[in-house]
Amino acid sequence: MQRSIRTFYEAVKIMQHLPREGIPVIRYINVKSRTRTEFIDITEKVQELLKEAGLVSGIGYLYVPHTTAAVTINEGADPSVQRDILTLLNRMIPFEGDYLHKEGNSSAHIKASLIGPSLSVMIDEGRLVLGTWQSVFFCEFDGPRHRRVAVKFLSDKKMP
Ligand code: ZN
Repeated sequence: MQRSIRTFYEAVKIMQHLPREGIPVIRYINVKSRTRTEFIDITEKVQELLKEAGLVSGIGYLYVPHTTAAVTINEGADPSVQRDILTLLNRMIPFEGDYLHKEGNSSAHIKASLIGPSLSVMIDEGRLVLGTWQSVFFCEFDGPRHRRVAVKFLSDKKMP
């Protein structure tokens, strides 16, 4: 009985990752952070996945399957902006504090929830619809670590 339940869940898990019409349902971007708190520009990686998927029009959905990291879209041209955001977050939510969580990384959990675990971005003519100064960032709050970002592209083109 237990074995058949496990087999069923494994089958569902495999199905969720199987290619559908040549396009994997969920794609992953691997990220390696180098410091404790850091913004990493993943715009080009998302754009590469989009090119591979061959999607022309629709929505890209990004999701971080971690409790101490996040994703956001913000200014990519001037790195000072990322620094300012991190500086303020670290000031507002210090690493050490009157936290109950025994692992000692409560500040990272709080920052992750404030910024959020997911975002969506429109796709048009095979490109991410971003403003001139906008970039997609993976936000590390408890690095350095190996991380990943799950990406799903949804096409709004009608099937022929
Ligand atoms: Zn923790």
